[in-house]
Amino acid sequence: MPKNSKGREIAEIIPEKCIGCQLCVGECPVGAIVMEDGVAKIDPEACIGCGRCFDVCPADAIIFEKPRKKRMTGVGQAPVPVDEYKGVAVFIEIREGKGAEVSWELVGKARELAGKLNTQVLGFILGTDIKPVGEEAIAYGCDVVYMIDAPLLKAYLPKVYGNALVHLLEQVKPEILLLGATPLGRDLASVSATRCETGLTADCTGLDIDLQGRLLLMTRPTFGGNIMATILCRNHRPQMSTVRPRVMKLPEKDGSRRGEIHTLDFAAPEDNLPRIIDFIATPVEADAEDITSAPVLVVVGKGACDTRHLPMFRELADLMGGAVACSRPVVQAGLLPYERQVGQTGKTVAPKIYIGIAVSGAVQHLVGMQSSDKIIAINTDRNAPLVRIADYALIGDYTEMVPRLIKGIEARIQSFEGKASKR
Ligand SMILES: Cc1cc2nc3c(=O)[nH]c(=O)nc-3n(C[C@H](O)[C@H](O)[C@H](O)COP(=O)(O)OP(=O)(O)OC[C@H]3O[C@@H](n4cnc5c(N)ncnc54)[C@H](O)[C@@H]3O)c2cc1C
Repeated sequence: MPKNSKGREIAEIIPEKCIGCQLCVGECPVGAIVMEDGVAKIDPEACIGCGRCFDVCPADAIIFEKPRKKRMTGVGQAPVPVDEYKGVAVFIEIREGKGAEVSWELVGKARELAGKLNTQVLGFILGTDIKPVGEEAIAYGCDVVYMIDAPLLKAYLPKVYGNALVHLLEQVKPEILLLGATPLGRDLASVSATRCETGLTADCTGLDIDLQGRLLLMTRPTFGGNIMATILCRNHRPQMSTVRPRVMKLPEKDGSRRGEIHTLDFAAPEDNLPRIIDFIATPVEADAEDITSAPVLVVVGKGACDTRHLPMFRELADLMGGAVACSRPVVQAGLLPYERQVGQTGKTVAPKIYIGIAVSGAVQHLVGMQSSDKIIAINTDRNAPLVRIADYALIGDYTEMVPRLIKGIEARIQSFEGKASKR
């Protein structure tokens, strides 16, 4: 097994066997695999030796032998004493200071499930100044609301939200957790299910209870919708499911309902903090631009994920009357908030001009931006998928290319203004 400079055993690609399917690229949690000349290539320094690429490779083109380390979190370790877990919990997503409608739809469903299990409906809320949402949750049907109210939770950051939700799960131990299948809900569900080592059934269209085993029956279409599969999570807790908006019925709101609200303490792990400070200090996050309506998007990729250069990206966006967006690794690194993520688990955008700065163009990113009118790629790798689909490509280091682009645009604006003033 090869090792990187940190002495970490890493995966190795056999180029002759690689079929260029990019499954490993999408699976790598740290973005350590890129495509070069149609062949996957691992950055040894970025590889964390998790072996996920090895698991998904359909062509046996990856060598990986290291025995897996078991991840331990406290919740969901197999086998769990399932009897200790009680209650049907709903993660209440907050949008513009209010509970999202899908969350109330799930509270309605949770009431039905909790009735069958003879247990309580629990609301889990994360954010800042969220007491009114807690009261609304009770009005919609929660018996007990657990919330973490902290400035760190003002905007969605996967790592911080994941840590906070797992903290609630460890403290409260619900037997079921339902989340809306929204971009945020899907992301948070996968982060927390992985941390809890429990099962997650996405996009359920039906939820019911097997009373004998006290199990959640999670039904969803499969094989292209040709059959309905009912999935069980027998040995792990919580049993987790996401449901799309408007699949479940919105319950009546009853302001006279009474319930309990508990606020729990939460301290973000130390390694979250410097990034959050960057995030709060960076002027780009201060505004509330909607990347889906911006005519120009300057999209920051992992190769340009550097706080020092954010003002430069902002300058380019301002010059063109646009907004700054990003790929998923940039959100995961805490550099930009989730609202700015483009792609499968982020937002779908179709600006007049999309400028991808050090974005490789993984399939999960492309699905969120491929309808853009004009695509400009800035990349050191001329074979990056985004470069291949771009209308214009600037091949080179972004630290040289972006200032040149800014100067060029400024010069054009000045000459345009000069001509206009002579008329
Ligand atoms: C279930 C799932 C959902 C996902 N959802 C999303 C999603 O919604 N959105 C999303 O974006 N991703 C998503 N991903 C992740 C996706 O697979 C890729 O890992 C991610 O898009 C890669 O981001 P990137 O292009 O910024 O980074 P990389 O793929 O690492 O690319 C970095 C690029 O920067 C270039 N570069 C490096 N240094 C420089 C430099 N100095 N100058 C110029 N260029 C440079 C490199 O050549 C490379 O092309 C998802 C993955 C999974 C498994």
